[in-house]
Amino acid sequence: MSDRAKASDYKDMRSNFIHDIIDEDLATGKWTSIATRFPPEPNGYLHIGHAKSICLNFGTALKYGGRCNLRYDDTNPIKEDMEFVNSIEQDVRWLGFDWNERLWASDYFDTMYEAAVALIKQGKAFVCNLSAEEIKAYRGTLTEPGKESPYRNRSIEENLELFERMRAGEFADGEVVLRAKIDMASPNINMRDPVIYRVAHASHHNTGDKWCIYPMYDFAHPIEDAIEGITHSICTLEFEDHRPLYDWVLQEVGFWPNPPRQIEFARLNITNMLMSKRYLKRMVDEGVVSGWDDPRMPTIAGIRRRGYTPEAIRKFCDEIGVAKANSTVDIAQLEAFVRDDLQDRVEARNVVTNPIKVIITNYPEGQMELCTVENNRNVPEFGEREVPFGRELWIDGDDFMEVPEKKYFRLFPGNEVRLKGAYYITCNEVVKDEAGNIVELHCTYDPATRSGLGFEGRKVKGTIHFVEATTAVKIRIREYGYMMKYNEAGDMEFDPESLKETWGYAEPLIKQAAPGERFQFFRKGYYIADAELTTDDDKVFNSIVNLKSSWKK
Ligand code: ATP
Ligand code: MG
Repeated sequence: MSDRAKASDYKDMRSNFIHDIIDEDLATGKWTSIATRFPPEPNGYLHIGHAKSICLNFGTALKYGGRCNLRYDDTNPIKEDMEFVNSIEQDVRWLGFDWNERLWASDYFDTMYEAAVALIKQGKAFVCNLSAEEIKAYRGTLTEPGKESPYRNRSIEENLELFERMRAGEFADGEVVLRAKIDMASPNINMRDPVIYRVAHASHHNTGDKWCIYPMYDFAHPIEDAIEGITHSICTLEFEDHRPLYDWVLQEVGFWPNPPRQIEFARLNITNMLMSKRYLKRMVDEGVVSGWDDPRMPTIAGIRRRGYTPEAIRKFCDEIGVAKANSTVDIAQLEAFVRDDLQDRVEARNVVTNPIKVIITNYPEGQMELCTVENNRNVPEFGEREVPFGRELWIDGDDFMEVPEKKYFRLFPGNEVRLKGAYYITCNEVVKDEAGNIVELHCTYDPATRSGLGFEGRKVKGTIHFVEATTAVKIRIREYGYMMKYNEAGDMEFDPESLKETWGYAEPLIKQAAPGERFQFFRKGYYIADAELTTDDDKVFNSIVNLKSSWKK
């Protein structure tokens, strides 16, 4: 996969029940080409749940050679912000998709108003003076029918006049609403004379003060879809009960002879990820995380900074499929896609943490040589690089045990290991300070074992890596755990220990790491040079994923 999504990626996209519906609509001639849309409300940053919807909508359009619009659902005048609009566009593009048109629901306010007037003229909508509480009380319950509003039988003329006065600003917020006249006894509560227009004296980022009445989502959304000629309006399951209203609006307004069809699928949920814009916004506003792009956040901005690739996310979204029932995907599965993708695309670098100094006592002082190591074991085309070797080295704290456990094959007193790309070394002495802390290890190397010479004298069980001490570069490392953990009640809560700051020594080539560049830290995991914090002199890395999967296919 390339970083842009291509039609060829989606031609053999895993089929799903939505595609079955589309196939049938194309076969019967209901539609000759298809159109989808991704309709975010610009009230926050997109998260990976939105990525699922983006991949499904844009991917479906690519698969069928159709079109997909990016449409801002900006029918709510407050809460919306240009910062969010810009982030949404950046995120959709980063995921690899290009929209046909970028549109605003608010551009359709005139048509929505005309549609409401059309309903009133047919006696299918009325202005209601009940308060919000009264409307709720009249609505009934799942087991009891609702009660009709005393304003329900106003004449068409009176309704037209009142609606015009609503528009003219003669009523305060909440004083009156326009309701569809459907059925207060409907088993579907959404059909019990739902509110379709409300008064809100608020400026809108797009339409300014032109309107003081705004359409409700259930009325606006089908009209937005119909105006754009959307054929299949894909949304999440919580809108299933709203579908009869979606269909009712399009049918009764009657402006569109071949209306779109709403199809619901299950939201994406992932373990250890809380995907609610409201919650994420609170974490940002309260400063619990560093921003919308904190690498722990499930936002697209967060996972981008964390080092996940768009290809891995697209593949993940396609492979997990499209379900009709809600479920939760194990985060390890997402990580497996990221790991699989990075495996063949990044170079390795030697980095050690909790470093221990090693002195090669039989190596001449002041001498240094270069050892050749491969950049990516899976991809020979990535070539080789040279790492310095000398008398003083750093090894990783995990690669030495003074008293080895069973099956520990790395360095311990008396044991011989291979230094990747260099020599076999044997640990002869552990030097400690007065407090008993290890200061350095005294080792000897065997010149005959130099890598590449084909030494076959004896085998060693452990291979470890190293960083030459005089050329080592100190780097900062941010090890990220999961932002959310589960408490005893099984609910997710913020894990204050989800970021651990540490540091390490890296081979000199790390100085060239550009912000946003990804590497495998050899034997440790995948890391990205943080796009915000990395400078020429200060390299800051975020952990992306570890090397081994706990996920079983
Ligand atoms: P949130 O509930 O996180 O605040 P939202 O649904 O209110 O999100 P919208 O901007 O309205 O956010 O969503 C845009 C589109 O993305 C909608 O079609 C919505 O159904 C879809 N979407 C949102 N969350 C998910 C998810 N977890 N899985 C799949 N699709 C999602
Ligand atoms: Mg929403």
